[in-house]
Amino acid sequence: MASPAPALNVERILAALEDCSSTVSVQWIPSHVNIPGNEIVDTAAKEAASLDSIQEEQEPISFAAVKAHIRREIRDPPIAHERTAQTYKGYTTDKDKEIRSRADQVVLARLRSGHHKNLRAYQHRIDESVDPTCPHCPDKDHTLQHWLTECDRTMGERQRIFGTPSLTLDILSENPPGVVELARRTLLGSPTL
Ligand SMILES: [Zn+2]
Repeated sequence: MASPAPALNVERILAALEDCSSTVSVQWIPSHVNIPGNEIVDTAAKEAASLDSIQEEQEPISFAAVKAHIRREIRDPPIAHERTAQTYKGYTTDKDKEIRSRADQVVLARLRSGHHKNLRAYQHRIDESVDPTCPHCPDKDHTLQHWLTECDRTMGERQRIFGTPSLTLDILSENPPGVVELARRTLLGSPTL
């Protein structure tokens, strides 16, 4: 059996941070709700860590061989959540590589899950006192779907960025940089837009 992980020594961590000559930023990481594969990876990692064979002397194995093995053995199940399935439908690592900053990756992940704090329908789920309707369309909820595909307020920018205002949620994986640009112009930093 593997020995249990040592308990966190907060005092030691604080002292180390104080002694550090560089600037240290502490960043909140969004939870992995609706992130495909996350639970599978967690379970597989725990199983692997508890294997008796890992305690024994083993031949070294290359990183490429490990990756090939993982690709053969682990398959994501289909995404059960309908909206999340659509937002990841055309996902490719190549397209997502065009999103270079951590901040933009976070924006994109939050939008794909429909859980962005500047979407009022999502705010309303957390705090019932928040009005869930779109600031510009009083009869429509300010959801991901509304903001990205229906809202009159974002129509002009959708036309300019994508060449058409008629979008589906597929655009979240088909054109990630375009969605981030739309968010910058019509959603981020100004929740009332
Ligand atoms: Zn609207």
